[in-house]
Amino acid sequence: MPRPIGAVIHTAALAHNLARARAAADGARIFAVVKADAYGHGIERAYPGLRGADGFALLDIAEAERIRALGWRGPVLLLEGCFEARDLEACSRLALWHVIHRAEQIDWLARHKSAVPQRVFLKLNSGMNRLGFAPEAFRGAWLRLSGLAQVDDITLMTHFSDADGAPGVAAQRAAFDAACEGLAGERSLCNSAATLRFAPADAALRADWVRAGILSYGSSPDHPLHDSAHWQLMPAMSLRSELIATQHLAPGASVGYGSTFTADVPMRIGVVACGYADGYPRSAKAGTPVLVDGVRCRLVGRVSMDMLTVDLAPVPAAGVGSPVTLWGRDAQGRVLGIDEVAHGAGTIGYELMCALAPRVPVSAD
Ligand SMILES: *Cc1c(COP(=O)(O)O)cnc(C)c1O
Repeated sequence: MPRPIGAVIHTAALAHNLARARAAADGARIFAVVKADAYGHGIERAYPGLRGADGFALLDIAEAERIRALGWRGPVLLLEGCFEARDLEACSRLALWHVIHRAEQIDWLARHKSAVPQRVFLKLNSGMNRLGFAPEAFRGAWLRLSGLAQVDDITLMTHFSDADGAPGVAAQRAAFDAACEGLAGERSLCNSAATLRFAPADAALRADWVRAGILSYGSSPDHPLHDSAHWQLMPAMSLRSELIATQHLAPGASVGYGSTFTADVPMRIGVVACGYADGYPRSAKAGTPVLVDGVRCRLVGRVSMDMLTVDLAPVPAAGVGSPVTLWGRDAQGRVLGIDEVAHGAGTIGYELMCALAPRVPVSAD
């Protein structure tokens, strides 16, 4: 028997979450963001659930090739654009749209020989200060691009740094509106957090395209302010395993490396076949929830490479072979949000799903 761990990708949940994006961004078209191998879900496994999107946004040509190989003929956007001039040949060959965020990328386009002009997304740095033209350089970049025979159409875009938090999008949005005033072209502003929090009440913010990443996978972009149930999202990835041993701790006995957890009463401990080499965060603190037989238990002791340990007090009938859900939903549909687990580890759902380890077998349902 193989080691009893596995991840399940839920096709129906992906489609459901995409429908949530559509409802929130009514009238806009939706890019399903599938960078980082579809946030750890696997592009090929996620595709059947996400093929109802209007386009796919991703990072590099290898990922774009994979989406095209699945038969997708619609829009594909490279979110960081080209990394060198010859990437433009792949853009022509695969009909990719690409972000232009610095002047050199325009130089490459001006020298690119192609019969078919390309669609580009001109990116404004509205305050995130990672990629994009400064507001004072934006109009010049637009003018240069619109004078090139190699360019077919220019979409104006920006990316929010604080859509999930208290500052919100107002300041960056105002910077975008000012920089784009009078410029022709479609617009794209919203990530998941902006789509769910602000787009429903604001058609200009929804604009022409939203870029739905994390929400597609069922994690709340603004946890712990709101959880995924609040946004009516369903987990698209479940990480499941089983108990492979149980232990009794007498008061004063400890469990795991470093003896970081010591029982003060007699305890029953379940040993789960899942550790940090499977992608479960070693930083998860005691108390992080784990479902055993569908019942919420707490992690105790240090997460090791191949195992972690839980307090079985809430589920006395559990024993070797009992099903364990580390995040997502169990076979009976009981859900443990990935965001809650991430919170227990001082991180975010994004990082956990992206870090699912290659040794974990993955299936889709
Ligand atoms: C990753 C990314 C997104 C998606 O962000 P989520 O928070 O996952 O929705 C949108 N736009 C850009 C430019 C990105 O890089």
